[in-house]
Formats: sequence, C-alpha cells, structure tokens
Amino acid sequence: MRQIAFNTPIVTQLEQDYVRDALASPKHAGDGPFTKRCQQFFETRYGFPKALLTTSCTDALELSALLLDIVPGDEVILPSFTFVSSANAFALRGATLVFADSEPHTPNISVDAIEALITPQTRAIVVVHYAGVACDMDPIMALASRHDIAVVEDAAQAVDSFYKGQPLGGIGAMSAFSFHETKNVSSGEGGLFVANDPRFFERAEILREKGTNRSSFFRGEVDKYGWVDVGSSFLPSDILAAYLTGQLERLDTIQSRRKAIWQGYRNRLDSVAEYGVTLPHIPDYATNNAHMFYMVCDNLDQRTQLIAHLRERGILAPFHYLSLHASPYFKDRHDQRAIPNSDRYTECLMRLPLHLGLSDDDVAYVAEAVIDGLRR
Ligand SMILES: *Cc1c(COP(=O)(O)O)cnc(C)c1O
Repeated sequence: MRQIAFNTPIVTQLEQDYVRDALASPKHAGDGPFTKRCQQFFETRYGFPKALLTTSCTDALELSALLLDIVPGDEVILPSFTFVSSANAFALRGATLVFADSEPHTPNISVDAIEALITPQTRAIVVVHYAGVACDMDPIMALASRHDIAVVEDAAQAVDSFYKGQPLGGIGAMSAFSFHETKNVSSGEGGLFVANDPRFFERAEILREKGTNRSSFFRGEVDKYGWVDVGSSFLPSDILAAYLTGQLERLDTIQSRRKAIWQGYRNRLDSVAEYGVTLPHIPDYATNNAHMFYMVCDNLDQRTQLIAHLRERGILAPFHYLSLHASPYFKDRHDQRAIPNSDRYTECLMRLPLHLGLSDDDVAYVAEAVIDGLRR
C-alpha cells in the first residue's frame, strides 16, 4: 500500500555542495560566510533591517523576551492555540501569560480579544501567523502603539508571506522565524531573529553572543571585546547555515511546488462542506505561503474517524496544537476564562501531508481518501 508521510525533508545537490564547502572551510563556528549569506538574503529580499540567524525559532523568541527586559509581574498576551515556544520564552522570564482566543474564521489571535485583555501591566503582544497566514496587523499595531506595548511576531511558519504587501516578520518590533524540518525552508533545526525597531539592533547582537560585544569587535568598532550584558549562545554553526543557504536559493522553486500542492487539495475538496468541514480561510489582507493545508472538522468524533480512515490508507494526517490555557502545566495558572475558538481548533483541526516528496498523484490519492472517509 502507498505510504504518505506527513512531512519528508527533501534536499538537492545544491544543499549538499554548500555543506561540503562549509566542512572544507576552516570556519565551522557561527557567523561565518554562509551565516552572512542567509542574513543578507532576508535583509535584501524582504528589507528586514537586522536579521540574525539563531539555532531555532524558540531561541529567537527567547532573545526577544530578553531584549524586552521582561520581568516577573509583566503581562504578555498571546494566543492559546500556538506552539509551546511562543509561551515558554516569556514564561522563562517570569511573565504572567494571558492567553487570548483565536478568530472564528482563522486560528490567528483575535484583535477584539487582545483589546479586552490589555492592562497597565501588559508589556508585549505575541502574534502567531498560523499556517503562514497573516494576523490582522494594522489594528494590532495601532492598539499596541496606543498603549506603548511591544509586538513580537512569531513568524515561525510565515516565511515569504505578506500582510497588505508588507512581509510578515517585518511589522512588529521584532520577529522570529523557524527552519525546523517541518517548515517551508529547513536546516533541520534553525531560526532567524529579526529586529525592526532600531532600539534593539545593537543589543540583539550582544545578547546573541553571550553578552559580549564580539560582533562590533569583528567589525573593528571597538579594540577589545568583553562581557557587557547578560546573554546566551544563540548562533548556529556555519555548516547549518550552508544547508540553509541552499534552501533559500531554491525558495521560489520550493514555494511554487508547495502552492501547487496546496491548490491541488483545495480544488479537490470543495465537497467536504457537505459534511460540515471547513477549508482554510485566507483574508483579503493576507497571502498564502502554502505552509500548511488544514481542515476544520465539524466535531471531534468526525476528526478522530477521518484520521483513522486516512491512516488505514497509509496517510499520516495529524491534528495540531492543544490549547495552552488548558495544558497540564498551565491549567491551574489560567484565570478560568473560556477560550472557545481555541478549544474548537484543538478538537477539530487536522492537517494533510504537504511536502516536496508528494507527486500530483499522491495529492489526488489523499484528497480522494478524505472524501471517501467523510462519506462513511
Ligand atoms: C515551529 C514553530 C516554533 C518553534 O520553532 P523551532 O525552530 O522548532 O524552535 C515556534 N512557533 C511556532 C508557531 C511554530 O510553528
């Protein structure tokens, strides 16, 4: 029987050549020539003012929390329907996490929910562009600026996606991307920190380099380097950056194939509506970077049966996040507010395989299995 993985990493000769070059070079540590190429790629292509590679998106988010000087008692508003890293970065600094609900038509954070949760203690709003589809940034940025709150974009899934023409990751004070193997471009593990607000440019380099001013030393701006601030080691090896360089140079090819697969599912799945299943909603202000193809089932039983049916056909189609406000770690810390849309996505959302190892025939096979599973 055909076996269809949820994700399969695909690399070409280009990535292999660059990794071989990096291994042959005398520079294997961070901030080598391949790291510079990756950072330049983002600064040039998207106009990000300051892009720094990190070992993961999780690290880039931790760097954000350090840069914002988050201390115990500070409140951070973020969606409940997200990956643990969006929350951990701030929980590690002792922040009080205030979980907000998702929009009814997308899993993105609800603007009305944010507004209702702002207090004088609110220091940051973390937005997550779920499936690479933009949150409604204009009203969020307006709210944040009115209350002098920093916006951090968790753009882990949002490479090469836009809000009203602006690249995601380039709108908030700072942002974080992921190059984990499940994302559109990968280095196995990897991330990118972006600072858009010039207040953070210099200190971001220092905190990423163990609290030293090593980066300005190498640019010849200071004559010795030392310990000037707190910090950690957020630099990936240049060997990983070499892998990522190959992926970035193939970004347009990767994106056009991912979009074709996404559209292939979309074209074949209109009839799921008859069973109460909804397909992704892309608001007018957002683009679709084909990070994910998800469906929202009518109820938990339907989803459980559909996932089981697909598994019998050799197809892995997992569900996704579990509301963080109801997690074992957080449930006793939560203020008991109901967060119903997040709970609905927790129970009803599922994802179809989407990767470059899929043929057009595989896409048709998966779509047929979905319809067939719902019909039973
Ligand atoms: C993948 C992901 C992360 C974590 O990325 P890593 O690079 O694995 O640390 C964080 N937030 C979201 C929304 C993600 O999808």
